[in-house]
Amino acid sequence: MFSQHVSKNLSAYCHGELNDEESRGVAEHLLGCQRCRREFEEIKLGVKFAEHLPHTSAPASLWSEIEAALPERSRSINSRTKSSRLIPDFGWQRVAAVCALLLLAMAVGIFWYSSRQSKNATQVADKDKLQQTIHPGNSTDINPNIVENPSTTNNIAPPVAPGSNDKPAETIIASRADGQSWEVARLAGTPTIGATQIEGSGRLAVGEWLETDGTSRAQINVADIGQVDIGPNSRVRLVGTRSTEHRLSLQRGRLHAFISAPPRLFIVETPSATAIDLGCSYTLEVDDAGRSILHVTSGWVALELKGRESIVPAGAICVTQPGKGPGTPYFDDASARFREALSRLDFHNGGAKALSIVLAEAREYDTLTLWHLLSRVEGAERNRVYERLATLITPPQGVTREGVLRLDKEMLDLW
Ligand SMILES: [Zn+2]
Repeated sequence: MFSQHVSKNLSAYCHGELNDEESRGVAEHLLGCQRCRREFEEIKLGVKFAEHLPHTSAPASLWSEIEAALPERSRSINSRTKSSRLIPDFGWQRVAAVCALLLLAMAVGIFWYSSRQSKNATQVADKDKLQQTIHPGNSTDINPNIVENPSTTNNIAPPVAPGSNDKPAETIIASRADGQSWEVARLAGTPTIGATQIEGSGRLAVGEWLETDGTSRAQINVADIGQVDIGPNSRVRLVGTRSTEHRLSLQRGRLHAFISAPPRLFIVETPSATAIDLGCSYTLEVDDAGRSILHVTSGWVALELKGRESIVPAGAICVTQPGKGPGTPYFDDASARFREALSRLDFHNGGAKALSIVLAEAREYDTLTLWHLLSRVEGAERNRVYERLATLITPPQGVTREGVLRLDKEMLDLW
């Protein structure tokens, strides 16, 4: 959406090191810029790679090589000027030997990583350069980046029938290794799995319910991809877990998820929408009426119900209602008038009057909301949204009023 690319801030963004305003700026930009989104996906994979690198001791021979080289270096420093002769005195064979060992260590790391990642082969976008480098023979094209292509989201990661024969062999092997239950730790009070109270820790199997009362909390280890904290008065069920998809159902209560995995691997169903993790962390709360509220703290989450989708970046909130699905996402510091009018527009037939307030109150950041509204209102109202959006952010080259009004997907993505 903004003309300046955000490459240099992406790493800090992924690590939560930016202040609120910077973080929001990056999130907004990612919403509209395919190029930066692609880089962001690579950085996330890189972070995951780094987190999983095994800590191994260097072989003893490496140290003897270095030790053997040291006296020569000392001699060289004593007998000549420091700057001119450091490397040559190491001797090329020794340098080559040390480099070869380092390369070998890297190769082992990459092999280890790629064998892990192959479990997720059906989930990782084929265009991901890092994955391509590591795993050149891998030609999965099942998962076009969903942020770029929201309309295809229902085609991604299709459920695989048990025992179906068209799974790749490595997926079958990985699935067996996955296990059918997740570790649960008691954080406070007396959480239960089925009728059993959790003392210290327990396991949540597929189909089982984990429940907390007003004074209890629990933490779930989601396979090897992250943690979910379950707040008081919550009821959550493990729907399924396999290498290509981990799925929970939150019937009521509150969860906080921290996920480090390729997009779309972790999914939470609620009575009024499905939350699909696109990386990083969020809080999701469901009330007794089945309404839910999503607050994303880092990365992105998609909320979906029957083809209606909201893409929610860090710092933004999205409300969902049974039968209506996800409302329009908005940033958490939008004005009270803006939020109230948006709620009427989304769920209470607010019409032109509510839209006028939303448009009048919208700041530059609220283009997140306006962009989503383009496809949710029609006719003259869509034209009004276009007008306001165009004053806040000049349409880039190639984006025309006519194209936006007919919801040209490429133009919307570009903007
Ligand atoms: Zn960009």
